[in-house]
Amino acid sequence: MAIETLSSRQSAAWKDRVLPPVEKVAEGVWAVPVPIPDNPLVYTYCYAIADGSGVVLIDPGWDGKDQYLALTSALADLGFKVSDIHGIAITHYHRDHIGLVPALLAKNPSAWVAMHGEDLRSIKRFYTNAVDLGTGINPNLNIARAYGVPEDRWAEVESLQVGSSGTKAAHSSTGSTGSTHADRTGESMSFYQQALRQLPDTVHVLDDGTELPLSDGTVRAMWTPGHTYGHSVFVREDDDLLFSGDHVLPTITPNIGLDSGAITHSLGDYLRSLEKIGQLDEEVAVLPAHGFRFSGLHDRKAELVDHHHARLDEIRARMEATDDHSVFSIAQGLHWSRGFDSLHNFNLFAALAETAAHMHYLGIDLGIGSLVGQD
Ligand SMILES: [Zn+2]
Repeated sequence: MAIETLSSRQSAAWKDRVLPPVEKVAEGVWAVPVPIPDNPLVYTYCYAIADGSGVVLIDPGWDGKDQYLALTSALADLGFKVSDIHGIAITHYHRDHIGLVPALLAKNPSAWVAMHGEDLRSIKRFYTNAVDLGTGINPNLNIARAYGVPEDRWAEVESLQVGSSGTKAAHSSTGSTGSTHADRTGESMSFYQQALRQLPDTVHVLDDGTELPLSDGTVRAMWTPGHTYGHSVFVREDDDLLFSGDHVLPTITPNIGLDSGAITHSLGDYLRSLEKIGQLDEEVAVLPAHGFRFSGLHDRKAELVDHHHARLDEIRARMEATDDHSVFSIAQGLHWSRGFDSLHNFNLFAALAETAAHMHYLGIDLGIGSLVGQD
């Protein structure tokens, strides 16, 4: 089944990178675009699911006044007050997905929040700043050296702080990255600290197969590690809906290799998670966090698998062509949409992380040795 848009208005908006309208996407389900400031993704879809006793949200989107207003006024038009939100389910912990959670909980403390335990752990890591050296999310001098980054560029990688992974460079169309976003990292750090203060009492920890506590209807979490280690998608079996988060997007690929603690197994995880959703019904309507809703899950899955295998082939060829097998040298020889030389700061690190994840998958020594705490 070919990949086809299920909404011409959504796909037109994505093409023009403008905000699409709020749309009903299934019985009792609406897609509400919540803007992401200064970001080529433009918006995250928050999905609102009516369940008889109110409304449950999946991924409320980036935090901010305009965002809060966009979401709550769209809900008001649909007949829901903030106090009607009785639960919030999260696909993964990036800020363009969980940003509004603290503000919504502040107005409505009785709402539950559901997310996978591994992503809850990642948020806690931000809070404590106890990111293990070399595990991918808090780049530092050691990892820059291990990856073979030339000394005059160490500062670019070293100066990055945690909190950068939820930004524009976390997705790409060709495996390369967009423009720099490193300037927002300090802000993200305080965001996660604030977010965590509100979360612990309310989190409903998801595992593979956990059913969301809806009053009516069955929506089940499916653990799909890869983009983040705790990434989950949600499946409504009754009418074949897949809320796919960033795991499967219609036109871009999520960054693999950035997640803290998971750099060395993220590509293997991601490919297994693609196989897993490949078991779902071919007819399923895919409701992603970015882009537009579409059908043709199996074909899209095959494209994503092919994309990563092509990348692996590229890396094998580069390994043959050069004696310098550092991550930096290999990355330098790969195709990037705007060229390797255009990658700086966070985008340089994202590109190196993605290259490292692919190299590790091929069993190539990354030179980080004991820096990586887990495999
Ligand atoms: Zn996202």
